[in-house]
Amino acid sequence: MANIQILTKESGSSTTVDNLSNRKSVVDVDHIRKKYGATVAVDDVSFSVNEGEIFGIIGPNGAGKTTTVECISGLRRPDSGSISIYGLSPQRNRDKIRDFLGVQLQESALPPKIKVGEAVSLFASFYSNPLDPSDLLESLGISNIKNSIFKKLSGGQKQRLSIALALVGNPKIAILDELTTGLDPEARRETWTLIEGIRDRGVTVILVSHFMDEVERLCDRIALINHGLVSALDTPEAIASHAGGNRVRFVPSEPVDDKVLYAIPGVVGIERKERYITVSGTGDLAMSVINSLAKIGVHISDIEARGGNLDDAFVELTREGDASKLREGTG
Ligand code: ADP
Repeated sequence: MANIQILTKESGSSTTVDNLSNRKSVVDVDHIRKKYGATVAVDDVSFSVNEGEIFGIIGPNGAGKTTTVECISGLRRPDSGSISIYGLSPQRNRDKIRDFLGVQLQESALPPKIKVGEAVSLFASFYSNPLDPSDLLESLGISNIKNSIFKKLSGGQKQRLSIALALVGNPKIAILDELTTGLDPEARRETWTLIEGIRDRGVTVILVSHFMDEVERLCDRIALINHGLVSALDTPEAIASHAGGNRVRFVPSEPVDDKVLYAIPGVVGIERKERYITVSGTGDLAMSVINSLAKIGVHISDIEARGGNLDDAFVELTREGDASKLREGTG
């Protein structure tokens, strides 16, 4: 089972056993910090991305996600800390890195009248070993719009074009930022299939997203960034189940105080409704509740347990002023 890495500003350190650690890391972000004037956009961010994985970066608006990937792609220089991509610095070795790093820009800055095919061929000309533009358009399912001009494209078509532009250089690593924002549900699903196809071709993908369903479906691991700090780093499943997302609802044979419930290992939250108590928390919560209450002579009935989901975990992990609960929750 994966071990979660929960970091808090207060703890400043963590214990992690990465369940994908048998893979080689190709991007290493080491304690980067970036300020814009008085605004601390990235306070202290560290993580490694393994070769061939889809690595998600999630977090609330303004958390520092875009600044982090802009530093990785060499568009910005961190004030301190370091980044290594296949052993190279994106700031000092930008020309070398450009050849194997594909970056999808949030807003495509293309001339409005450029045709899709022309744009992809133009970008291909910047690289030493590009993909064939026609083959790429075909594989992305947009060869039919090869002769369409940029300003006439739909949101989904623009998104696919921006992915094509990120991939045409035949990168080893692709950075995709807010991939499916503004797309309809069908286009989102198609885009996900496309990203899985890219991963299957061996490309390492760094995906910035604020959609939990997207990262749950696509990402092998995610870093949750909050206020410029990494507050969780693990597989989506591990984060969902360890960050207080598990829930157990039951009816106790006699009244039980909150204090008693909070003392049960793993419990981080309590809700009461009529006869029912719902506790939320981490680990094997149902077993923990049954055993702990049995020890004090309280029996429970009508028990219903459900696993955590990433949405709940996200809310829990980004809740203001709750860092201490997190540390307790992860034991
Ligand atoms: P996210 O991608 O998570 O929404 P950003 O990295 O875009 O976060 O922004 C982090 C913080 O830095 C925010 O408070 C944002 O307003 C600020 N910020 C981002 N870019 C700039 C900039 N160019 N100049 C000044 N402040 C910026």
